[in-house]
Amino acid sequence: MIADREREVEFAKLAKDVRACTRCPRMANSVHVIGPASGSIDSPILIIGEAPGRLGADASAIPFHGDKAGENFEALLEQVGLSRHDCFITNAALCNPKDENGNNATPLRTEIQNCSNFLKRQIDLVDPKIVVTLGAQALNALKSIEQHEIELSAAIRKTWTWYGRSLIALYHPGQRAMIHRSFFNQLADYRFLSETFLRTTREKRPLNASPTSQTIAKIAERFANQPDGISYFALHKLFYLAEYEFYRRNNRRMTSAYIVRQKEGPYVFEMHIKKLTKAIKTLKVWNDRSRLMVRAADTSTLFSQTSKNEFDEVLEYVSGKYGRSSDGDLKRIVYLTAPMRQILRKEKGLGQNTFNRAIDFSAIDTRE
Ligand code: SF4
Repeated sequence: MIADREREVEFAKLAKDVRACTRCPRMANSVHVIGPASGSIDSPILIIGEAPGRLGADASAIPFHGDKAGENFEALLEQVGLSRHDCFITNAALCNPKDENGNNATPLRTEIQNCSNFLKRQIDLVDPKIVVTLGAQALNALKSIEQHEIELSAAIRKTWTWYGRSLIALYHPGQRAMIHRSFFNQLADYRFLSETFLRTTREKRPLNASPTSQTIAKIAERFANQPDGISYFALHKLFYLAEYEFYRRNNRRMTSAYIVRQKEGPYVFEMHIKKLTKAIKTLKVWNDRSRLMVRAADTSTLFSQTSKNEFDEVLEYVSGKYGRSSDGDLKRIVYLTAPMRQILRKEKGLGQNTFNRAIDFSAIDTRE
């Protein structure tokens, strides 16, 4: 096993090599989707999709985030008690293939072949216990690394041994693939993945996880319950500050939200605007000059009696202390917190930006 620091440096080099790659002519101007947004290189699960989608990773630079396939994928993970914290997520082709009309296209066999060395380097580096493929393209892409005879239709809910690891082949979570395998059947497949994960890692975690996104939406609803609304920017920062404050008080997370460091500070995956509008029926969204604003209706009956005190105290504290701060002040405030300072120190050490790196609360010194 390579030392942690060496592995980080090696991953940074791999990401740099990918970003410089021009092997597939039609993808020269696409985002090359690899980096801290892919997930932790210590993840026990490595998930491989087909290629970034035009409205998903090609726009967000985050694998499986921002489009319908990403929404389905995140919902499937959440409903079986898994999250992005457990996974390193990548694609067989790391750039978005488009047809002549600019729409998503299937990557060509040559393009997958071109990218296969990058895929191998990722698998070797992350060294996951479980490799998961999403769709036939991703499953076939593995053949360039080590031959197999696995057919997707016959592989469901089975574990195979491939390249010295457990391999689980799943269908793609995009809407088109749902015709071949419904969301509910895929949910059962993800439950099999979750069971295999728990067995393999011997982690104790409930399979029927609490509906995290609902809790996150409730917290967002609480912050957005302002007569004039608040900016979407501020909403993410307040949520982060609540998580941070909760961790400082209780030495554990308030939710399992996946929060990453972006250029403008913390960003909460589960609070993508599309998800919020779906989860909060009363949410109003509008633009005030260049600012996206949100406002929610009364939230007086948000939390059950059992969780009320713990959550409410923190949310009230954060609302009272930071709720009226300007976006600029909030940005400064979050950058002064211990987890963000820690990320900046890491960034300095690696000599490059770490945008989209997951914020690790467990590593902070709560006295900072
Ligand atoms: S898909 Fe892979 S091989 Fe092709 S240009 Fe992008 S990084 Fe290079």
